[in-house]
Amino acid sequence: MASWMTDDTAGDRLRDQDLQHFAVVHPGDDAEQVTAESTDWLVMVDFEGVPVGVAGPGRQVAWSVVVASAELRVDAALKSPAFDEVDPNTGVVVLEGREVVGVWAGDSLARALLQGPARDLTQSSLPGYPDIPLIVQTCGYSENDVPCGTSDTFQRKPSVMPPCPNNNHLSPHTFVW
Ligand SMILES: [Zn+2]
Repeated sequence: MASWMTDDTAGDRLRDQDLQHFAVVHPGDDAEQVTAESTDWLVMVDFEGVPVGVAGPGRQVAWSVVVASAELRVDAALKSPAFDEVDPNTGVVVLEGREVVGVWAGDSLARALLQGPARDLTQSSLPGYPDIPLIVQTCGYSENDVPCGTSDTFQRKPSVMPPCPNNNHLSPHTFVW
């Protein structure tokens, strides 16, 4: 038995959950081709390796990704505002540092979301950035069929959308969730 199994917090971390097999799709890869052929989850990353899209097997890419550290406790993750936006069909991209190590999705995630955090929360105050789960969201605005496509990072879904960083220099606009 691996030594970490003796740690009494084993099983509490995101890394310990039933993570899905996945492949990383880089900019320039033929995402549609890969999506059609893959039986694994797919994580689309940008040029800096930040996950910006995720797709379950046979599903379309969702350009909204909740990312969280593999070391984060499940209770803490479930309490985070970002997890309010989690959908078991798109899952949570689990990171170790900047590296994708898995996708938490499907039944195991759905059960955890339904159950919510454990009642004993004495140990589960949220650790500081960068262990707070984040939402990487791609702006859905388009102009004359040119998509904005700017991705930005949020701790929670804003109740009032901020101005879009507008990396493709379209007309100034509010971020489209
Ligand atoms: Zn935009």
